[in-house]
Amino acid sequence: MQSKSSKAGREGKKKGSDSTKDACPCGSGKQSQECCTPYLNGTAVAPTAEALMRSRYTAYTRNDEAYLRATWDERTCPKECITHDDPTQWLGLEVKQHSTDGDTATVEFVARYKINGRAHKLQEVSRFVRYDGRWFYVSGVIN
Ligand SMILES: [Zn+2]
Repeated sequence: MQSKSSKAGREGKKKGSDSTKDACPCGSGKQSQECCTPYLNGTAVAPTAEALMRSRYTAYTRNDEAYLRATWDERTCPKECITHDDPTQWLGLEVKQHSTDGDTATVEFVARYKINGRAHKLQEVSRFVRYDGRWFYVSGVIN
């Protein structure tokens, strides 16, 4: 099903509330309902490592601890809570590169965020692995 996605362009303003009609936080240009929300809700499985990467970013913007854990390789998933008291305000995601080799993949991205009013940029190459048709985040190397 191909929907005519109208590119709304760059929208700078950030809303606190989270309407399902909003553009997806992952920066795909699609509405979250047609993008990451079905993955977070468990009604669909991210088909590619990039889609998983985007949905995990969206999960971070929503402090969705359960989804982050569910999509993290259990060998590398941290024991402590990931989102607890996290002051990060996520501003945007840009996927630079995505390559898949069998059941492993890497995604390079830049994420922008603010902590206590200060802007930061995170550039990372993340590794993903696929088990039984589902992608999981393994680890990342920060550039
Ligand atoms: Zn999305």
